[in-house]
Amino acid sequence: MALRKLIAGNWKMNGSLGALAELDGIAASAEANPGVDVAICPPFTLIAPAVQRQPGLAIGGQDCHHAVKGAHTGCISGDLLREAGATLAIVGHSERRTDQHETDAEVRAKAEAAIAAGLVAIVCVGETEAERDAGSALAVVEGQLAGSVPPLGTGETLVVAYEPVWAIGTGRTPSVADVAEMHAAIRAKLNGLLGGEGAKVRILYGGSVKPDNARELLAVADVDGALVGGASLTAALFVPIIEGGAAVG
Ligand code: PEP
Repeated sequence: MALRKLIAGNWKMNGSLGALAELDGIAASAEANPGVDVAICPPFTLIAPAVQRQPGLAIGGQDCHHAVKGAHTGCISGDLLREAGATLAIVGHSERRTDQHETDAEVRAKAEAAIAAGLVAIVCVGETEAERDAGSALAVVEGQLAGSVPPLGTGETLVVAYEPVWAIGTGRTPSVADVAEMHAAIRAKLNGLLGGEGAKVRILYGGSVKPDNARELLAVADVDGALVGGASLTAALFVPIIEGGAAVG
């Protein structure tokens, strides 16, 4: 089943109020390519100004605390993200799994909190280079899915992003065959975890997606979009990726 592609940008701890000018070209491309969904996840402080600047563009957060509110200094809740105008939230990005030591159980709780707040949760999974070299990439990712995917997730509320850690920000990508193998395994696992909804959950590929490789990666079976870091920071690089998705969508 071909799912509608989602091209999502993760600005990480980059950008500024001035950089929101990039959203103008990105929003124009989203409008010109209605066959794909487009989203940008800027730092928390830029969510509301981003929504104000381009109300038609989907804007997301880069994390979501598992609690609704309370004594959690420096954290952000799903309701606060919603109030700022976000419609989705990335959870379990490998940088947070590493830097903040987030476990699968925490990632699942965050995804559940995001969904409860009315957000679409983008749950990230992916193996390290050592794990791939050891031949355990599939097992690692299947384990992360078993631990991080909310059992009540649906095609409407949940997106999974496969991001091999060694491909993030490095300019390296897995082969098309490896992406196809992993996405097929993720689909099978989602079918097992979510029953009939498993076929409806979009599986994004992330890790050094650029204008020159986007089309090839997005054409792989069960690649239902892309999660893009560095190349989402400028319209000049992100728009060709949106167009690549639209071309193969
Ligand atoms: C990311 O961190 O989500 C990512 C995919 O980054 P990049 O595109 O820069 O590799």
